Amino acid sequence: MAVASPIAPAAEAKVRCLTDSHGRVIHDLRVSITDRCNYKCVYCRTGEFGAQYPELGIEEYLRLIKLFVNLGIEKVRITGGEPLLRQGLVELIEELARLKTLKGDPLDLALTTNGHLLGKLAHPLKAAGLNRVTVSMDAVDAPTFERITRVPGSFKKVVAGVRTARDAGLTPLKINCVLLRGFNDNEIEGFARFAREENVVVRFIEFMPLEEGRLWTPEIVVPLAEIVDRIGRAMTLVPMAPREASETARRYTFADGVGEIGIIAPVSQAFCGACSRVRLTSDGKIRTCLFSQVEHDLYGRMRAGEDEASLSDYIVQTIYGKEARHHIGEPGFLKPSRSMVHIGG
Ligand code: SAM
Repeated sequence: MAVASPIAPAAEAKVRCLTDSHGRVIHDLRVSITDRCNYKCVYCRTGEFGAQYPELGIEEYLRLIKLFVNLGIEKVRITGGEPLLRQGLVELIEELARLKTLKGDPLDLALTTNGHLLGKLAHPLKAAGLNRVTVSMDAVDAPTFERITRVPGSFKKVVAGVRTARDAGLTPLKINCVLLRGFNDNEIEGFARFAREENVVVRFIEFMPLEEGRLWTPEIVVPLAEIVDRIGRAMTLVPMAPREASETARRYTFADGVGEIGIIAPVSQAFCGACSRVRLTSDGKIRTCLFSQVEHDLYGRMRAGEDEASLSDYIVQTIYGKEARHHIGEPGFLKPSRSMVHIGG
């Protein structure tokens, strides 16, 4: 049976606050500016480089992001694919840094990258107004790292990129590590030490069924409880209080308060009830959930000549229909048509 999408009440549309029909306020936008990547991580890609979806012009992303900011978005995270591959990124950040939220504050501007090009770009990005970066790093051991990225020499480049970004003040610098049983779960304790030695925040992420191929099984996921248990055997972990309800990571420090690790557990302890995020793909489609089965062609409407008021109404209505939650691991679960690299992680 077809289920009609909920319609946002007119009053809600008038106040221009981005809420969904489940009462969640949406203030976090992730924007992919390319689905090209210079890494072929084994758990993400099937082995080919290259884009599957068209890219918009930098000024088109800017126009679309402004619509969201005028509707209440407060955090923008630029991602991909690999966003540092995109010409015009520094200029985009410069323009975004000039925008103000509805409360009159500067936007919280972050970026997710594999770090390969940060050595060159960290300082220009900081000068342009970027606040923070998250670097994806799935091992602290060079051979394991390069077995995962399938790019020789990548470990040295990324560690250098992390240090340059940290020294440029793109902090707190977070490292995201997707854990897969049998690939890199022997890195857990090494990452805890890395967090302390390099003064970075390490986040372990449970592997989600968003890969290009068919690798995901429940058994390959290393769940939160196991990660905490394994680090706890080597070091004392002290839980930290959440800073906001929509925080995705369970955070821990160590007995001496030096260093922080976090665990993002979308599979074993889903946090959909507090989700405050929507995504814009590199070809300008709104995705209201990573696991959405439908996409909403905002760019198509812009290209067809719709004005800002009409595009804003479309965003309000689309977000109102955001899914209640994902269904990973449940019978009948359907993988979305795009994988993580093509959605924007
Ligand atoms: N190229 C950038 C990078 O490496 O961070 C941005 C894009 S990448 C797709 C964003 C993040 O998604 C990375 O941290 C990556 O490890 C993570 N990721 C990719 N596939 C995933 C999956 N199936 N489950 C969980 N995280 C995944």
